[in-house]
Amino acid sequence: MDKNIDPRQQAIREVVKDFAEKDIHPVSQELDRASEPREFPKSLYEKLGAAGFIGMSLPKEFGGQGKSHLEYVTLIEELSYHDAAVGLLCAVGELAASSILRFGDDKQKKRYVPDCITGGKVVAFVLTESETGSDAAMLKTVAVDKGDHYLVSGEKIFIQHGDVADIGVVFCKMENQSEPSALIVDDTGQSGWQARTLKNKMGMRASTVGGIILKEVKVPKENVLGEPGRGASFAAEALDNARIVVAALSIGMAQRALDESAAYAKARHAFGQPIAKLQAIQWMIADMATRLAAGRAMVYDVARRQDAGEDYSIKGSMARLFTAETANFCVDRAMQIHAGYGYIGEFSPIEKLYRDQRALELYEGSSEVQQLVIADNVIGR
Ligand SMILES: Cc1cc2nc3c(=O)[nH]c(=O)nc-3n(C[C@H](O)[C@H](O)[C@H](O)COP(=O)(O)OP(=O)(O)OC[C@H]3O[C@@H](n4cnc5c(N)ncnc54)[C@H](O)[C@@H]3O)c2cc1C
Repeated sequence: MDKNIDPRQQAIREVVKDFAEKDIHPVSQELDRASEPREFPKSLYEKLGAAGFIGMSLPKEFGGQGKSHLEYVTLIEELSYHDAAVGLLCAVGELAASSILRFGDDKQKKRYVPDCITGGKVVAFVLTESETGSDAAMLKTVAVDKGDHYLVSGEKIFIQHGDVADIGVVFCKMENQSEPSALIVDDTGQSGWQARTLKNKMGMRASTVGGIILKEVKVPKENVLGEPGRGASFAAEALDNARIVVAALSIGMAQRALDESAAYAKARHAFGQPIAKLQAIQWMIADMATRLAAGRAMVYDVARRQDAGEDYSIKGSMARLFTAETANFCVDRAMQIHAGYGYIGEFSPIEKLYRDQRALELYEGSSEVQQLVIADNVIGR
């Protein structure tokens, strides 16, 4: 089945295949199964940066590759085919770095974006708080004006790479302002920035997640990102873009589940024939392939809209909703087809895929939040 709608995609797939053979497969199991406390895979992250995979669609002027969104989603899809947690490492770096690029001034862009893209510095998108997840505008982290700087205090949770971040794009409220703002914390070594790695993460384990307590973290005023009070719209725009990346992660995983299932069904015998000859198995494979084809078409359609500068917000939410559910469906069917050899991780990648997939329905807006956005668009408020 040809996946490409553009010849440039094949070149990306080949580059990723070479990278995966050399730099992902040898470490993938270890990164997934290492005992607690988990460590952020800095050397792999630097390799991803050196390969040009972090911020691939960002401008060359700031260290990116200047590639199209279509090529970028293909990159994430292919990385995720090999190991979704590795696709996520790139996606998180891109989300946070592109926020600086979108909303920062020239000085901020030049100062921070290139280091983030090379993987030299780890950057995190620091929005969620313990009491405000989906309802992010209600955040409580506060920045108190101290003349030439702010002192930022609050508590953040579920921050990907927040445990090791050198740079944080932090969302907070300025004292006496009701709307959120965003600022760049570039000194995470100061004593007020207290980060820890959250334990016992279900899947996507190579990409660690942090909880951060901010106690009067000093941030120079020049580090405010864009106009104060515009943080909610910045977050919404950044997450719009990130949704399509989650959709790309989803189709990569769904494709892997399908390929593993087809191969296994041909090899495994029951009642004197390969299980691939059984209609019950064929129907599962057909349903997986069909949903995957529909999801992939949605992802590429959104990427092309992004490349054409068209509005893609609602179609992005639809793609994120549908593909995360498709990935769920495909890994679940893959488990059914592999049966015992799927459930026990030493025999196949299905057990890992099953754990990795689940997060895709939770972040960059949960599936219910996507449904809310889509329904609002259809029905109106
Ligand atoms: C592995 C992982 C990585 C993450 N990485 C980051 C990160 O890098 N940076 C960051 O800032 N955040 C990150 N998050 C946070 C993530 O964005 C939130 O978990 C998500 O927004 C949901 O928030 P919550 O977990 O507090 O759930 P809640 O908002 O409490 O939701 C609980 C349930 O209620 C539903 N719900 C809530 N509101 C509505 C509504 N209006 N209508 C219908 N249903 C609703 C939700 O869909 C969900 O089912 C990460 C989360 C995870 C699990």
